Amino acid sequence: MHFIVCIKQVPEGTEVEIDEEKGILKREGVESKLNVYDAYALEAAVSLKETYGGKVTVLSMGPLQASEVIKEAYTLGADDGYLLSDRKFAGADTLATSYALAEAIRRLPPADVIFCGMQTTDGDTAQVGPGIAELLELPHASYVAKIQGIEDQSIELEADMGDGIEELRIELPCLLTVTKELNQPRLPSYRLKKATENREVQIWDSKRLEGANFAYFGLDGSPTQVERIFPPPKAETKELWQGDAEELSRKFYAKLKELKYL
Ligand SMILES: Cc1cc2nc3c(=O)[nH]c(=O)nc-3n(C[C@H](O)[C@H](O)[C@H](O)COP(=O)(O)OP(=O)(O)OC[C@H]3O[C@@H](n4cnc5c(N)ncnc54)[C@H](O)[C@@H]3O)c2cc1C
Repeated sequence: MHFIVCIKQVPEGTEVEIDEEKGILKREGVESKLNVYDAYALEAAVSLKETYGGKVTVLSMGPLQASEVIKEAYTLGADDGYLLSDRKFAGADTLATSYALAEAIRRLPPADVIFCGMQTTDGDTAQVGPGIAELLELPHASYVAKIQGIEDQSIELEADMGDGIEELRIELPCLLTVTKELNQPRLPSYRLKKATENREVQIWDSKRLEGANFAYFGLDGSPTQVERIFPPPKAETKELWQGDAEELSRKFYAKLKELKYL
């Protein structure tokens, strides 16, 4: 079986620097790490490989420094890694990101299951997984919290819908986005670290996606544009109100008027 896992490098910590002029996150030179949900997606793929055989390919899009998360994935059991890196891919919104990743997946050996994290800790939209599935016309499930197993070319799983659990059987090939309830990611292995230290990351520029519609890549291919991006102002003062609902709503109304929101 072939499992593909989409992994993204995200800024470390919560203090993200923002380029207010360009409306983008400052990624260059910022301490980065593997998006936490993608570690759960990778663990799911590696465990399935251990049970059913096959291989795990990881795929990322980002600046060259994102190859670090692919190298990390090798120490966690991934076999191959590809990084889409080109100025043409830069500034992509979620649709253009999904398009580039989907076009790369079309050019890889056919996958049985494509895994994504349920969301990232920077963009945080949870749109890319379903976006890739729609572009590839694959069945998909989001918020997968349990995988029962693979049988007869289909996968049985449970998805956490917030107010209930949905039991599903989905035909392969398919795409799944996963939650943190799915498993416990393993720690990087020293043995794999040594064994994979010379393993290459395949860097693909836009030319490797020949045949795709280049107008759909990057900033030009993004139907949404960020008008303004800024860190929310830190609240200097805090007031603690106590009272019954009526009293508190009166107080709240008066405050909104005082601040000229009403
Ligand atoms: C309206 C809008 C405009 C934007 N404009 C810009 C911009 O101008 N410049 C800019 O730098 N960013 C921009 N972004 C951010 C950019 O769209 C996101 O970084 C990117 O599309 C991924 O979205 P996300 O982080 O919300 O992923 P989510 O949808 O939350 O991610 C879900 C999963 O998809 C996979 N995934 C997501 N991104 C990648 C990736 N790059 N490689 C591999 N797997 C991935 C991972 O498995 C991840 O767990 C914009 C976002 C929006 C919503």
